[in-house]
Amino acid sequence: MSEIVSVCPICGGDVVVKEVEKMVKGGNNVAIIRVKAGVCSKCGERIYSKETHEKIQRIRRELKEGVTKNFEAIGCTYIYKAEV
Ligand SMILES: [Zn+2]
Repeated sequence: MSEIVSVCPICGGDVVVKEVEKMVKGGNNVAIIRVKAGVCSKCGERIYSKETHEKIQRIRRELKEGVTKNFEAIGCTYIYKAEV
C-alpha cells in the first residue's frame, strides 16, 4: 500500500488514517464501500492512496456495467421528486 500524505494538501492540517465509508456511484447504481483513507483533522478532506483510488474506479465501473456479484442490496435509492 502506498503512503498517504501526513499533511493535508488543502489546509495543512494533520491527516489521520481511518477506515471510512465511501459512496461510489456508477451509472444509476450506488454502493457503500469501506476503505482506508487519510482524513484531515482540520477540514475533513479525505485522501486516498493510489491503490484505493484504483479500487474505487474498478467498483464504479462494476456498478455502471451492472456486475453485481460483489454487491449486496441493502435498500433502494430514490430521487426526491418534490421540491426540497
Ligand atoms: Zn485539511
